[in-house]
Amino acid sequence: MRIGILNGDDIGHEIVPETVKVMQVAAEATGVHIDWEPIPIGRQAYDTLGNTMPAGTLDRLTALDGWILGPIGHMVYPKVAEAPNPHPILRKHFDLFANIRPVKSYPDLPSVHQGVDLVIVRENNEGFQPDRNVVAGCGEFRPTHDVTISVRVITRNGSSKVARAAFELARTRRKHLTVVHKDTVFKLGCGMFVEECRKLAAEYPEVQLDEAIVDTFAMRLVMTPQRYDVIVTTNMFGDILTDEAAGLVGGLGMAPGLCAGPQHAMAQATHGSAPDIAGRNIANPYAMIMSGKMLLDWLGRRHGDAAAVNAARRIEHAVERVLAERRSLTPDLGGSGTTTSMGDAVVAALRAE
Ligand code: ATP
Repeated sequence: MRIGILNGDDIGHEIVPETVKVMQVAAEATGVHIDWEPIPIGRQAYDTLGNTMPAGTLDRLTALDGWILGPIGHMVYPKVAEAPNPHPILRKHFDLFANIRPVKSYPDLPSVHQGVDLVIVRENNEGFQPDRNVVAGCGEFRPTHDVTISVRVITRNGSSKVARAAFELARTRRKHLTVVHKDTVFKLGCGMFVEECRKLAAEYPEVQLDEAIVDTFAMRLVMTPQRYDVIVTTNMFGDILTDEAAGLVGGLGMAPGLCAGPQHAMAQATHGSAPDIAGRNIANPYAMIMSGKMLLDWLGRRHGDAAAVNAARRIEHAVERVLAERRSLTPDLGGSGTTTSMGDAVVAALRAE
């Protein structure tokens, strides 16, 4: 399989290499052949090639099965046309409509709650995000100095696609799906999203569908996250709730993610590029490594490649072992290890299997 390596910015240069290292060892152990293709992106691409997303990037990615995208530090990019934020472009161009973000607690790790094992499936290309909810222009504008209008886009097709992805996931897990919305206020927008979820429920009789208003859900998530299995929601609600959920199980370093579309998938952790800790070899590589694991699993299932699914499972087991041993963990997990030592420990655990 052909997988791209796009380091991104800041801690991306530290956690993406650890992820590739782990995926390669798991692939070798299971007989999966991966052709890796490094592709420049972000600040480094701007400095060397004059663009944060150099010409030809989309074509190169099209030829791949999937890729790893490290976190993007676009907030400090120069404000010029040659320095766009790449990830909304990638999500839109490849129709990566489902952002799948698991949140899991591990025994003995610093965590507000134990027994948490949920997945938030977030619509990825519509909603309030003004840089991707229109094909031209921007979904946010200021008609006068004192008035700003933000447009929220909800479509039946977009809602239905992400709802189906969530039902499909729920049927492989504890068969419980919660749709999170605010149709009491956004009667048309959230109303349409919920309608599409309800329509699909008939096709998945084994999955129990519950509905929750976003504000109540935010409270319940903090108090009793154990009650949830798969959650599906619109873009902005999902963006906020996934960070909240990550905070329940040890922080952003524990929040992996996959952006999945009809043809391609992109491993992308929930967290940003963490410039405050970049270059110190202390970033937690868990989220990125587990995002890579999700990519292998997605590719394996899509191509009927049991070895790739097995490689993903092995990574998960190896990571669990490393977390349980607590010897090489990064400071955010209460350890005194480094990004590299944690990656090395996962590799060692894989080799020991
Ligand atoms: P964005 O808006 O781009 O998602 P953000 O504003 O959420 O970014 P992050 O870059 O994710 O910000 O960082 C938020 C905090 O979480 C920072 O203190 C950062 O150091 C910490 N953090 C993020 N990722 C990791 C990680 N992998 N390991 C350890 N700490 C992390």
